[in-house]
Amino acid sequence: MPETSDNATTQPAVAPTAPERAPRVVLVTGANRGIGRAIAERFVAAGDRVATLYRSGDLPDGVLGVVGDVRDSASVDAAFSQVEAELGPVEVLVANAGITRDQLLMRMTDEEFDDVLDVNLKGAFRCVRRASKPMIRLRRGRIVLISSVVGLYGGPGQVNYASSKAALVGMARSITRELGGRGITANVVAPGFIDTDMTRALPEATQASYRAAVPAGRFAQPDEVAAAVEFIASPEAGYISGAVLPVDGGLGMGH
Ligand code: NDP
Repeated sequence: MPETSDNATTQPAVAPTAPERAPRVVLVTGANRGIGRAIAERFVAAGDRVATLYRSGDLPDGVLGVVGDVRDSASVDAAFSQVEAELGPVEVLVANAGITRDQLLMRMTDEEFDDVLDVNLKGAFRCVRRASKPMIRLRRGRIVLISSVVGLYGGPGQVNYASSKAALVGMARSITRELGGRGITANVVAPGFIDTDMTRALPEATQASYRAAVPAGRFAQPDEVAAAVEFIASPEAGYISGAVLPVDGGLGMGH
């Protein structure tokens, strides 16, 4: 439409940054350390009401902590209920809690496989299942599943971990097809190598070889993942769903 109004110059300037928005209730699993902590800090800084389901440790300022374990459906249910009672229904869920139990395939025990799937995949499932009903009632929601570049790239000694992280893509896409018409998005953020306890636990030589494989030539800081999570969970990202957003310095390109 052509601009014909005489007073066009008196219109308020369009802000180049995102508009101010009402605080939302955000639940991040495992915000006591690492990537989850950085994600929680970002949402707090943005003015949101942030809670975490966590097992141990200390929390960033301004985060409501509810002790729980994503391996236990009753614990997840109780944590959501407490957050709902204190802050209101969860509008943004970040399923971040995760573990590794690396082992060569021929030596990997059933327990090592099951333990990783129970936290990384079923833990995310328990949380999204519990989050879905209130989000459907609200007719809005943002679900962010923290996967890994390894989910689609693969990793030696990580058959259990890669399987669990790849499955999160199918989970997000199925949620998108099921709930996409209700104002709910579900996306995957796939970090590469991030400087946390998880990567610090690797032998120095392994860390060096991984660093050399990353086009960016470095590991990322947890807040670089948090920035991607903040964006994909934002109201402005409402038309992005079922996507896999890599934060990996170019490591996984095309995977
Ligand atoms: P950390 O090992 O530093 O932290 C893992 C977090 O998950 C901790 O808060 C831990 O709690 C929590 N957690 C583990 N098991 C459970 C459980 N059963 N119930 C509740 N919380 C649990 O890992 P990162 O911060 O590095 O990783 C966070 C996520 O990002 C994970 O899903 C990981 O797979 C993924 N990721 C990490 C990458 C990296 O390079 N660091 C790369 C790609 C993906 P507690 O402190 O009590 O153990």
